[in-house]
Amino acid sequence: MSTGTQPETQPAPRLERERGVVAAVPDGLLIGGDWRPAASGGTFPVEDPSRGRELRTVADAGAEDALAAAASAAAAQDAWAATAPRERGEILRRAYELLLERREDLALLMTLEMGKPLAEARGEVAYAAEFFRWFSEEAVRIEGGYQTSPDGKDRFVVMRRPVGPVLLVTPWNFPLAMGTRKIGPAVAAGCTMIVKPAEQTPLSMLALARILTEAGLPAGVLNVLTTSRPGEVVEPLLRGGTIRKLSFTGSTQIGRLLLEQSAEQVLRVSLELGGNAPFLVCADADLDKAVEGAMAAKMRNMGEACTAANRLYVHADVAGEFAERLAARMAALTVGRGTEPGVDVGPLIDEDGRGKVDTLVEDAVGRGAKVLTGGGHAPGEGYFYQPTVLSGVPADAAMLHQEIFGPVAPILTFTDEDEAVAAANATQYGLVSYLFTENLERAFRLSERLDTGMVGLNKGVVSNPAAPFGGVKQSGLGREGGRTGIDEFLETRYLAMPLG
Ligand code: NAP
Repeated sequence: MSTGTQPETQPAPRLERERGVVAAVPDGLLIGGDWRPAASGGTFPVEDPSRGRELRTVADAGAEDALAAAASAAAAQDAWAATAPRERGEILRRAYELLLERREDLALLMTLEMGKPLAEARGEVAYAAEFFRWFSEEAVRIEGGYQTSPDGKDRFVVMRRPVGPVLLVTPWNFPLAMGTRKIGPAVAAGCTMIVKPAEQTPLSMLALARILTEAGLPAGVLNVLTTSRPGEVVEPLLRGGTIRKLSFTGSTQIGRLLLEQSAEQVLRVSLELGGNAPFLVCADADLDKAVEGAMAAKMRNMGEACTAANRLYVHADVAGEFAERLAARMAALTVGRGTEPGVDVGPLIDEDGRGKVDTLVEDAVGRGAKVLTGGGHAPGEGYFYQPTVLSGVPADAAMLHQEIFGPVAPILTFTDEDEAVAAANATQYGLVSYLFTENLERAFRLSERLDTGMVGLNKGVVSNPAAPFGGVKQSGLGREGGRTGIDEFLETRYLAMPLG
């Protein structure tokens, strides 16, 4: 493995540019169209995970700010719902264009606060922007219906109405795209909103909020609360009676807690939760495609993705060659600070995230797994971990039963289809599975039997704003993106009238 450890001091122009993009992020909470400090005056630090150092501070919202944001979202709701769909669509379209215009600065900002390499951050900006383009097109395609009652006496008019003010809670791993995937349909549907970004990555969301304001989003439609005390901000909003819906992306554990809190006001709820994706390579697979797919499914975002391949089941006939080729590709990756040229793999998000990977690898190796490459920390000031491939991982290894959230690929073998499907489905999660085979019938047969919301067939990345993203079982409720994405933010109302 090659490790690009970053120099202690950056070249002056680069350092200046990094400071510039961080300093340009708006200061404060966005409430009712104003940027203002937290009511308490408190702030909290945002860290660069590649150096373990503070980048800057942001406002630390509490319950008082949450109530102010709820009042602002409620006050803006009726007027916003009454705007022309075309106007809402055009705001999103302008925001899409601004995101692409500012792609370089946004990518650098994301890399600084989250760690992913610049090339991946640029990809995320483009992916995030696509949600705005998609939902700018959906805003004008909200449809209803007209129906004759079965006895012929009445007519039913079916209309779609915005749900009302919504609360959007996002994770740190895709700081921009997980925001636009929720804000896009909320804007298109005519909902006002409060966004609570993750504590580790608030800067990308604040920069996005500024762009939406510049694109013409009226005051009060979008409110942003950065906080280091998520429970104090989120719980009063869920229980308060103003918010009508929660859309959450994050861990299953927190999703479950918020689902419980949402029960009191019987809120609409969309949850995009954790995954434990199986990656199946059949004996008839094209191994070039399978290795390429594994690299994408495992290494996107340093393995810190809900869609990350978490368990690789490879047919015994090809397992040796697959493992060898995957290990060679992983060993050739360059680990380092995401802003450095040529870096493929950035740091993990924090010491806890890396500590969890340490524990899982030690556990698997202790139970007899063999390290083909990697297996420990990579050098550098930040939370670096070596790209790792393990073979012969026993079924009771802890990493097969929870999200690894790191650059570690455990390989297991199978000999028949039923065994592979049973192993793949033996989890509480059901977000995505990956399947590599050149046999069409097997591809369909296994796709029907894999118990996940999405299947990547000979493909290591399934995310696309035009497709319905989401999971089954404890991976979530509802879908984001695609034709159904906007439905999550709409209610159905019907009007009954007699027709004499
Ligand atoms: P997390 O710990 O569940 O946090 C997600 C969000 O919830 C953050 O904004 C967090 O704020 C907030 N939160 C934490 N505790 C809370 C509480 N008691 N009350 C209210 N809000 C609370 O997840 P994460 O570590 O940020 O993200 C990684 C997880 O997200 C993984 O499980 C991953 O699989 C999942 N994910 C799923 C998808 C999908 O589409 N299915 C996509 C991306 C990620 P703080 O940052 O302040 O803790």
